[in-house]
Amino acid sequence: MSFTSSIMYFFAGFIIAFLFPRIPILMITRGKGFNLVFPEHPAPVPLSPKLTQRVLHMRMIYWMGFIVSLVPLVFGLASVKWGNAAFGFGLWISSGWFILSRLQTFIGGPKPPWTLDMAQQLQIIMDETKSIQNCCSMPVAEWRVLTVSCARCDAKLSDLPRPDLGRKRMDGFFLGGLRLLMTDGYPVIDYDDDSKNNINDSEE
Ligand SMILES: [Zn+2]
Repeated sequence: MSFTSSIMYFFAGFIIAFLFPRIPILMITRGKGFNLVFPEHPAPVPLSPKLTQRVLHMRMIYWMGFIVSLVPLVFGLASVKWGNAAFGFGLWISSGWFILSRLQTFIGGPKPPWTLDMAQQLQIIMDETKSIQNCCSMPVAEWRVLTVSCARCDAKLSDLPRPDLGRKRMDGFFLGGLRLLMTDGYPVIDYDDDSKNNINDSEE
C-alpha cells in the first residue's frame, strides 16, 4: 500500500469515526413530528414541562453517543489487527479522542451542553413565574439564545444560554448539521440570532 493511499484510508477512518457517535444527535429528534410542541428554530422556546423533558432527552442522546463511539473503536482495533491498518488507526484515533474528550467532564472539564442541573434550573424558573410575580402580573418565561426572559415584559429571569434543542434547524439539514458538528450542541453566540431575539437587550 502506497503512502498516499494509507493517508487516504487513515482520513476515511478518522471521518467515519468522527461522524458515527454524533449521528444520534444529528438525526434523532430533528423530525417534524418530534417538534410540534416547540416553535420553529431559532425562535425562543416557552418554558414548559415538555422543554424540560427535551433537555433531559438531549442529555440522554448525548451520552448515547458515548456508547455508540465504542463501535468504531472496536472496529478500529480489529482493523489494525486483521484488516487495513491505516483505516483502523484512523477509526481508533478519532473515537479514542471522542471518548477522552467526553470523559473530561468527570475531571473538571467542560460540562456537557445538556445537564440535569440545566433541566432543574428551568423547572425552578418555571415554578417561580407561577408563584412569585417578580417581573409583571402574568410572566411568560421563554428561552432565548442567551437568556431566559419574560416574553411579556422582557425582564431577564436567568443568564442561561440556550443550547441546541434538537429542533430542525433554520439553516437546513446539511448546514445546520455542519454547525452542530462544530458546536457539538453548545450554545452559539451568534450575532444574527442575537439581534433577532434580544433586540431589547441591546437597548437597555
Ligand atoms: Zn414579565
